[in-house]
Amino acid sequence: MRTRFAPSPTGRLHLGHAFSALTARDLARAAGGEFLLRIEDIDTTRSRPEYEAAILADLRWLGLDWPEPVLRQSEHRPRYAAALDRLGAMGLTYPCSCTRAEIRAALSAPQEGAPGPAVYPGTCRGRPMAARRPEDAIRLDLAAALETAGPGVAFTETGPLLSGTHALDPEAMRANLGDVVLGRRDIGVAYHLAVVVDDAAQGISHVVRGADLREATPLHRLLQALLGLPVPLWHHHRLIRDESGGRLAKRDDARALATLRAAGATPEDIRRLVGLAPSPAP
Ligand code: GLU
Repeated sequence: MRTRFAPSPTGRLHLGHAFSALTARDLARAAGGEFLLRIEDIDTTRSRPEYEAAILADLRWLGLDWPEPVLRQSEHRPRYAAALDRLGAMGLTYPCSCTRAEIRAALSAPQEGAPGPAVYPGTCRGRPMAARRPEDAIRLDLAAALETAGPGVAFTETGPLLSGTHALDPEAMRANLGDVVLGRRDIGVAYHLAVVVDDAAQGISHVVRGADLREATPLHRLLQALLGLPVPLWHHHRLIRDESGGRLAKRDDARALATLRAAGATPEDIRRLVGLAPSPAP
């Protein structure tokens, strides 16, 4: 078993991150496996070296360790570009020049008036990749991608939430995800593509992460099928919420590990706060 924790260095770690990292480490340890750390810093508009340093310090304080060197996504751009090119060569991507405002306007047009998740309406679908301009984003043609992958693609969830094997549901994917961006106009790649490429590159056997990413999992499985990548198992865990049941945000300082630590909390206190049993023996 090989698990990973893959934070983006865009803020301080909070209790939710601690729960995720500890869950991944505990699962690997219980199976005699390995726990890896990956820094997901492709978004240069939001990532900061000082956050990365703070993340490493917080995780070490929690008692975690991992093999070095740590994979930093910013150092592997060519492999994301190669994956994007490959999908392009399969005829599954198109360049998109729509601005956010144009997408909003198209979504609120009378014929699309039904309220629903803001999936891209497909305005640029069918534009050839050869017509790509430097300012364009690259989107996956979801319908074409599903057709190319064919039936029978499924993913297996081993976590406590929805455990079992689930076939891709094209209707739900169209409604929840649509033609997602795989190549952002500003940084060239997008999370969905980089995460799939790196889970394969690192030989991750169990993707342990929060239930907020459960909805993206069929897309990740589809990309693995198209790119011929090995297929991990998924373990989505509950989310740690604040008192009002809301999502913890990186800017939520009250639950930042650094704040709790400065107030005298120990790593075992953190385990208790997120509902984990005392530390298992190393
Ligand atoms: N980098 C992502 C985040 O911080 C996690 C990605 C994942 O675990 O798949 O939310």
